[in-house]
Amino acid sequence: MTTVAIREESLLSSGLTALRLDTLSSRLQEGIRLSGEELAGLVDVTNDGIADLCGAASDLRDFGKGRLVTFSPKVFIPLTMLCRDFCGYCTFRRDPDTAGDLYMSPEQVLKVARAGEALGCTEALFTLGERPELRYPEAKEWLAERGSQTTLEYLADVCQLVAEETSLMPHVNPGTMSRREMAALRPYNPSMGLMLESTSPRLYEKEGPHEFAPSKRPRVRLKTLEIGGELGVPFTTGILVGIGETRMERIVALLEIRKLHDAHGHIQEVIVQNFKAKPETPMGEAPDAASEELLWTVAVARLILGPDMNIQVPPNLNSDNYEIYLNAGINDWGGVSPVTIDYVNPEAPWPGLAELRNRTEARGFMLKPRLPVYPEFLDKAGAYLAESIRTKMSDVIDHQGYVLGGIERYAGTS
Ligand code: SF4
Repeated sequence: MTTVAIREESLLSSGLTALRLDTLSSRLQEGIRLSGEELAGLVDVTNDGIADLCGAASDLRDFGKGRLVTFSPKVFIPLTMLCRDFCGYCTFRRDPDTAGDLYMSPEQVLKVARAGEALGCTEALFTLGERPELRYPEAKEWLAERGSQTTLEYLADVCQLVAEETSLMPHVNPGTMSRREMAALRPYNPSMGLMLESTSPRLYEKEGPHEFAPSKRPRVRLKTLEIGGELGVPFTTGILVGIGETRMERIVALLEIRKLHDAHGHIQEVIVQNFKAKPETPMGEAPDAASEELLWTVAVARLILGPDMNIQVPPNLNSDNYEIYLNAGINDWGGVSPVTIDYVNPEAPWPGLAELRNRTEARGFMLKPRLPVYPEFLDKAGAYLAESIRTKMSDVIDHQGYVLGGIERYAGTS
């Protein structure tokens, strides 16, 4: 019996009767998409069928991306941990009483960026709370003293500083953005990020994780992503797995992302991020997302989004077994920092780059550093990247658009 036949038999026995695995990979490679019936059938795949589903997704990744896996060498800059929202799983947010510094100063930002520059990092990831000035007068005052009315105005100023004073390229992840705010950030950011997380309305109902987080309403997040498309901003987005959503709701969120990409071509990467419970949060007792559920979701993301999409699982949130997701169709590890911690998940250190390379290569893949914008957007740079960014990039990329010098550039990878 061939591998494909074994997979098909297994899937049929797991209830996925609408999906023909013997033709699935070739159909998707031709650009034919899963039917509604097939999508509904995915929901019923049991744990016994997941390996076969992953096999089909892995074949599709090989067709589109080959055996190349990327990561972005970065520093993480938590410009402010103040936030107007309250999500049930978050330990990042602070209020003014617990924040210490309300915002990082320009000098503090530059210091972190220069430390990353010294180690060959190319991305300055700005992650911050959502519009804290709307909740905290202290935040408003801090900003006013420095000539800014809003956090996003201040963010644009420090992005300019980093872009002009260092070799790093900013990638902002500040929550929802208006058209005007995004346009002000665009000259310094080759790409931006906003996790869609979920499109489930149930999650913002009473006692849901987003009950007190107006910025997590799917409508406003989809709007930000749409504005990104209209402005020609390469965008990273993604979904969370295990915060109370169903499998079908994950499929719906992935279809929304695909719809945006169909309309604008600007979704550069989709993160499939597993929920991990953090003590002292409202979801502290909730179970972590199971490996099987993450495998199912990664494979389904690949099957829905197709061979050309970049799909990522964060290795630091899966330190025991992150390499298994290579066999479900991913081709990227996201930002990995040799300098700073993951302030959103401080309990989860990033792997060292030597370890990341070894564990990636052990599965038969090659690891390469990339910029915060993927090489495929460099081919259409005129539509997506400001002239100043294109000039800056040309100094640090090889002929394929990856970071010059490859993985060997980074200490500790021999
Ligand atoms: S997850 Fe983001 S929006 Fe939600 S509370 Fe934390 S910082 Fe705020």
